[in-house]
Amino acid sequence: MSSLDKGKSTVYFGVGINSKKAHGKIRFYNENTHPVSQNEAFSSPTVKETRSAESEKARFFKALEKTVEKTKKTANLARTEIGEDEAQIFEIHAMLLEDEDFLESVVSALESGLSAERAVEKSAEDFYLQLRALGDEYLSARASDIKDIAGGLLLELGSKAENCEIEDDGQYILVSEDLTPSQTVRLDKNKILGFITFSGTPTSHASILAKAMGIPAVVGAQKIPTEYDGKYCLLDASSGKITVAPSESEKREFLKMCNQEKRIDTEHDKYMRSLLNTPAVTRSGHKVMIYANIGAKNEVDGALLNGAEGIGLYRSELSYLSRRAQPTEDELYSEYREVVEKMQGRRVIIRTLDVGADKQAPYLGIEKEENPSLGFRGVRFCLENKNMFLIQLRAILRASAHGRVGIMIPMISTLDELRRTRLLIKEAMDELLLRGQGYDKSIELGIMIETPASAIMADAFAKEVDFFSVGTNDLLQYTLAADRQNSKVSHLTEEAEAVLRLIKNAAEAIHENDGWIGVCGEMAADLRYTQELVSIGVDELSVSPPYLLGIRQKVCDSK
Ligand code: PEP
Ligand code: MG
Repeated sequence: MSSLDKGKSTVYFGVGINSKKAHGKIRFYNENTHPVSQNEAFSSPTVKETRSAESEKARFFKALEKTVEKTKKTANLARTEIGEDEAQIFEIHAMLLEDEDFLESVVSALESGLSAERAVEKSAEDFYLQLRALGDEYLSARASDIKDIAGGLLLELGSKAENCEIEDDGQYILVSEDLTPSQTVRLDKNKILGFITFSGTPTSHASILAKAMGIPAVVGAQKIPTEYDGKYCLLDASSGKITVAPSESEKREFLKMCNQEKRIDTEHDKYMRSLLNTPAVTRSGHKVMIYANIGAKNEVDGALLNGAEGIGLYRSELSYLSRRAQPTEDELYSEYREVVEKMQGRRVIIRTLDVGADKQAPYLGIEKEENPSLGFRGVRFCLENKNMFLIQLRAILRASAHGRVGIMIPMISTLDELRRTRLLIKEAMDELLLRGQGYDKSIELGIMIETPASAIMADAFAKEVDFFSVGTNDLLQYTLAADRQNSKVSHLTEEAEAVLRLIKNAAEAIHENDGWIGVCGEMAADLRYTQELVSIGVDELSVSPPYLLGIRQKVCDSK
């Protein structure tokens, strides 16, 4: 895309990550004090190649220890200031720092005579380039995490300046080649009105964090020349438009829009709050359960505040992915119990471990696959890792003694998988009986409909389970053969008709067998589909907490 000259102002475009707007002076990160180089991923600072390999190793390991410690502190900061999901980004950074392959590569570079700085740069750069070369949007987005980690180590080795602050008392819109997750989380919200990066995508961690922090941002923007530093600019993160040096009329128009949006926001908020206790019943009398999707126990408060009638999807794998080792039964039990108790008798559907594809942790030992989405994931992994599965099943069962729990199995495609899972649930129950530990003997069992096979076979499954929840994120990818991580084919998932038909047929079969069906993929939160989903007869919509009230309102407005 080329920039468009409009009179005195200059317009640039990128991808907006939220619907927010900002205006103010732009400031470029100073190349000398900025931990991320403007031109290269890993620019080499002055390096000292004169010390012995042993002393360089000692320097490196000391820096490593300090960086891990700092990264954990950042994780805690993110946990208190933003949320658990965001904290996990830094927990994973801490794990990556101690990744065996990375450490091996650094040590071998040190042994070949490189300085600690060069060894870190070289190993990180190799890793970074490998990820970039894969041409995969998701992995490219992870490449900036590697920069972040290397930047932290170089900082400890004394070759980068820590402070990336701009000497300016006022507020500004930050412009940078890229931002790493830890730079994003440390942005001073009192100073930063918004940011623009030339790299990055809406799925990169910096974008995910900025969204959660409510910072207006445009990523992957056209290059703005550095001579514009200090110029006034209008940043519209909903359209991705950046207007540098706007004319008076452009500025007036923009400010008018900002004020209107602010007014609408407060009035809208007030109205939405008034819906909190309104039952979600369509105009024709169909009652829909409005449940929340969560990934961690600290999201329950937000769910309840926004009127969640239950938890429709507890993505239990997130707590596995943030750890260095498999959680114990007691750790899982205490997490689940806390959620169940907070929900005070409302239904809590815990989805069993759904790892594989893009959800990986080193200790799971999942081998690299040609086609991970079609590979060893979800229940397929669990059935081959029975001990790990049994530990989780026992933890869920024990939590069921404290409220109303449902077990939901991900990525089911055959009846055999379901039956083998049921046998393991029975084995877990027997063990608890032997131990004298309580559980809900009539605990509900459900499956996710994420594969076309489970949707088509819903009538057979309905004879064996209590409920279903449609994972439209995966069902769309498998039905349309469009990888959900690949932005080049994401337009295909807008063609939802095939999936809607699958849901309709499944719903009919499930209702004939007295079961119920919900939707917990992102389609459940997309207001364009609410009318159709409720007229198909979907019984539950499960969405992340910020969308709960909007969906409740839309259901009430539906026919
Ligand atoms: C889905 O596939 O729609 C779903 C809810 O599961 P996840 O997004 O965790 O794969
Ligand atoms: Mg899924």
